[in-house]
Amino acid sequence: MKTGTPPRVDGRSLDYSKMDEQKGDENPSKFSFSPGVKALERQESCFITHTSEEVHGLLRLGFDRSPMFNGSIQSTGPRYCPSIEDKIHRFAEKERHQLFVEPEGWNTVEVYVNGFSTSLPSDIQFKALRAVRGFESVRFFRPGYAIEYDYFPPTQLKHTLETKLVKGLFFAGQINGTTGYEEAAAQGIMAGINAHLKGHEQPAFVLGREEAYIGVLIDDLILKGTEEPYRMFTSRAEYRTLLRQDNADERLTKKAFEIGLANEKRMQCLEEKQEQKNKTLSFLRNTSYQLEEVNPLLEKKESSLAKQSDKYYKLLSRPNISRDDIRDLSNVKEFLARYCISEEAFEQAEIEVKYSGYIEKERKNADKLKRLEGIRIPTNFHYQDLASLSSEAKEKLTRIRPETMGQASRISGINPSDLSVLLVKMGR
Ligand SMILES: Cc1cc2nc3c(=O)[nH]c(=O)nc-3n(C[C@H](O)[C@H](O)[C@H](O)COP(=O)(O)OP(=O)(O)OC[C@H]3O[C@@H](n4cnc5c(N)ncnc54)[C@H](O)[C@@H]3O)c2cc1C
Repeated sequence: MKTGTPPRVDGRSLDYSKMDEQKGDENPSKFSFSPGVKALERQESCFITHTSEEVHGLLRLGFDRSPMFNGSIQSTGPRYCPSIEDKIHRFAEKERHQLFVEPEGWNTVEVYVNGFSTSLPSDIQFKALRAVRGFESVRFFRPGYAIEYDYFPPTQLKHTLETKLVKGLFFAGQINGTTGYEEAAAQGIMAGINAHLKGHEQPAFVLGREEAYIGVLIDDLILKGTEEPYRMFTSRAEYRTLLRQDNADERLTKKAFEIGLANEKRMQCLEEKQEQKNKTLSFLRNTSYQLEEVNPLLEKKESSLAKQSDKYYKLLSRPNISRDDIRDLSNVKEFLARYCISEEAFEQAEIEVKYSGYIEKERKNADKLKRLEGIRIPTNFHYQDLASLSSEAKEKLTRIRPETMGQASRISGINPSDLSVLLVKMGR
């Protein structure tokens, strides 16, 4: 495979007044659920500028010297972040492409020119970038470049990331055909956990597709393999309503605690949050609002007026009513204050009220999958002996050797009738 990166340039040489400023989130959130970790307060802006016909013309002058174009490199690059030369080649009708000008950090003047990934000769990169608005006086720290690399088809791995052929050898990251820091980190932690557990003769640690994006990533790699650098897109997950960033602690902290990775304090934090959420949900379900207080709010929000008093739960399920709208209503205000309900717990309760229908539906589908996941297929199972299996199914199942019926069901080319044949054979 191949991948590349844009030039790094000196931010002091750029004219930001010619670009559009892109500010950070107004209310930035954070990865960690630990109360001690605060969301960022100081943020740096990014900026947007564009390439032009002139820039494209300058870049084309280097095509005959580009290993990507003259045929010396033929491997597959990431489709979703093509090099600038790929973009002007493949989308020749486009007069310009967007560039995101991103500061590398607080303590550096280095800037990352996102959208300008290139492996053209550096003199060409320099001339072309100087023709971009705001980059007329640009100074380079390092030119862009690309690399080619080998990987091992990940279908040779188990869900623990241990290789099927060599016991005790675990693979994680780019070696498995993925690209990206987070993809590598996600596999790294899972391979590490499982290597440790195996060494201590403890049961494997595998996350399901309905439990974590890590589960989706590893399941995709092992059952489908990859023909191009694999990136974890949210669109690859079928249970997106369950796999939310706001409930990562509810999904994973208990599991981390059980294998000794999360400490008691984190577990307590989670339990407190869940208790507060449940308390809030039961308050919303059981407490009625007063008409005279709520109707003015509904009027302001252009929502149909209530004819009789109802529970807060009903009120909050209205699409144009949010927790911010109800937090100052007398009952709610008193409840939030009396039980010191945290913002996170209130938010969790709101999400559950608003999306309960969808969450419930996904949970049911996920449970169905879990049942199939519970039916194990013996490792030495002879698929060739099953006359009623399609030949594609025989070939794929023999090659991939799924460990469960759930895994078998997700291999492309395995259809429902193949699954029925297998289920009968497994005595279900
Ligand atoms: C030019 C370029 C730009 C990229 N840009 C981005 C980006 O913007 N965003 C993003 O998310 N991802 C990006 N990626 C992808 C990302 O960097 C990789 O997918 C990720 O770093 C892979 O991590 P890894 O731990 O699997 O492998 P690596 O980071 O390659 O680590 C493997 C390590 O193993 C060591 N090693 C190899 N052989 C041996 C040996 N025999 N003994 C001991 N050690 C050995 C190597 O020295 C290396 O340190 C980019 C990659 C490249 C090449």
